[in-house]
Amino acid sequence: MSKKVVIIGGGASGLMAAIMAACQGACVTLVEHKDRVGKKILMTGNGRCNLTNMSDLRGKYYGNDSKRIYEILEKFTAEDTRAFFRHIGLYTKEKRDGGVYPVSEQAVSVLDALVTEAKYCGVQILTDTEVLDVIPESNGGTVLLETTIKEKVSETKGKKGNANKKSGPKMVAIGTKKNKLNYDSLIIATGGQAAAVSGSDGSGYRLAKKLGHSIIKPLPALVQLKCEGDYFRIVAGVRAQASLTLFVDGKEEAKEEGELQLTDYGISGIPVFQFSRIVSRAIYEQQVGLRTIKTDSVVVVIDYLTYLSQTDIDELVKTRESFAHKTVEEFFGGLVNKKLAMLVCHIYKWNVDTIMGNLSDEEFMACFKLLKNFKVVVSGTNSYDSAQVCSGGIPLEEIGDTMESRKCPHIFFAGEILDCDGICGGYNLQWAWTTGKIAGEYAAINKGNYEGTE
Ligand SMILES: Cc1cc2nc3c(=O)[nH]c(=O)nc-3n(C[C@H](O)[C@H](O)[C@H](O)COP(=O)(O)OP(=O)(O)OC[C@H]3O[C@@H](n4cnc5c(N)ncnc54)[C@H](O)[C@@H]3O)c2cc1C
Repeated sequence: MSKKVVIIGGGASGLMAAIMAACQGACVTLVEHKDRVGKKILMTGNGRCNLTNMSDLRGKYYGNDSKRIYEILEKFTAEDTRAFFRHIGLYTKEKRDGGVYPVSEQAVSVLDALVTEAKYCGVQILTDTEVLDVIPESNGGTVLLETTIKEKVSETKGKKGNANKKSGPKMVAIGTKKNKLNYDSLIIATGGQAAAVSGSDGSGYRLAKKLGHSIIKPLPALVQLKCEGDYFRIVAGVRAQASLTLFVDGKEEAKEEGELQLTDYGISGIPVFQFSRIVSRAIYEQQVGLRTIKTDSVVVVIDYLTYLSQTDIDELVKTRESFAHKTVEEFFGGLVNKKLAMLVCHIYKWNVDTIMGNLSDEEFMACFKLLKNFKVVVSGTNSYDSAQVCSGGIPLEEIGDTMESRKCPHIFFAGEILDCDGICGGYNLQWAWTTGKIAGEYAAINKGNYEGTE
């Protein structure tokens, strides 16, 4: 008899798990509390969905048990992901950095392919449905649900001049209906709590805790950094190719190169995202007393002049007569974004029309030093809402190789709810596909033996 598999969460990992379980002959119900599945998939890769990465995965993931992360990822690789999507009719292309995107460059193509396949395999999708409780029993369990009943109503615009003008039908909640589903296997694929607008509001952690799991404090990752300094309003909007080195308490923790974005509160862009989880955790550990960091000790040193070596700079000093007539802003405006040239004047409290010829050699060199080693003190990160993923989650030691809980048999986990986060570049979705695939397949043949039926 086919197993009844219930999946909570219709994101990347939940949809993958649903398809895999249904392919194994299970009777699958996917429960999603938003009005549609896959909202976050639509947000990925700036709407283009960087769905995996063909480069070596080593060193691209963080978590308390990185050995285990790579062992799990080997079971369904980036090649397997591309083959899977090709099989369900989605052609993909690889970019120079190994990032893989749908050929349409539209995230909606990825979501459509998954939803069409899930429906074709017989997966029942319940949207607008909240999970009230999970009651595990010896051979499965029950999920208590509450579905919002909606009705189509045509809306009228109330604005002056538009009175009674119809603006198309809108779904309006008219009540709720309680329901329960029995399961042989349950998969919890609720994501973390990054970008809650997409539905991942942290409720999965609460469910997991109730089922006996511990949670490594979830923190925002792949997120912007807030910095100290009154000058950020001057440079807000600048995008600059730069090299960034992160120091925590004087120790170099990471180095990244790429397009830095300056905002009115601090720094953003891919190189910042890549090490933001280190900053998040260092600051959190300091706040809860797990680590002592001296004040002002999370620092990013920015090199805005990566293309100039010390020899190039020495050469410029020797030939400085040739541009002695230029203002500081005009001269540095030829090397960096004009707003950064203005920043040099702001920092040294020089008038914007200060002439280069009036600077001493020391002042001249100091400008270069400033732009090559620009120190910013980090005061925090933006919130979960601005983050692309969460670090932390359920420790992998509490999960068997089949993704089944070691605390609660017949319950499986997949995706970001687990303690694993990748850097930007398609790595987080790869984790969702891999863990979703394993959880789905094993949930369908579940024997309630978490150490695996392999
Ligand atoms: C702006 C943005 C851009 C990104 N770009 C990329 C990218 O290009 N490449 C990449 O690899 N990664 C990217 N990521 C990260 C990636 O999207 C996530 O790591 C991945 O989607 C996680 O998949 P998941 O299935 O674990 O969780 P989610 O995709 O978050 O899905 C969880 C689902 O569960 C539902 N849910 C939650 N709680 C409940 C509940 N109690 N009851 C019912 N349903 C529930 C949610 O509504 C949601 O639909 C991006 C993230 C963001 C926010």
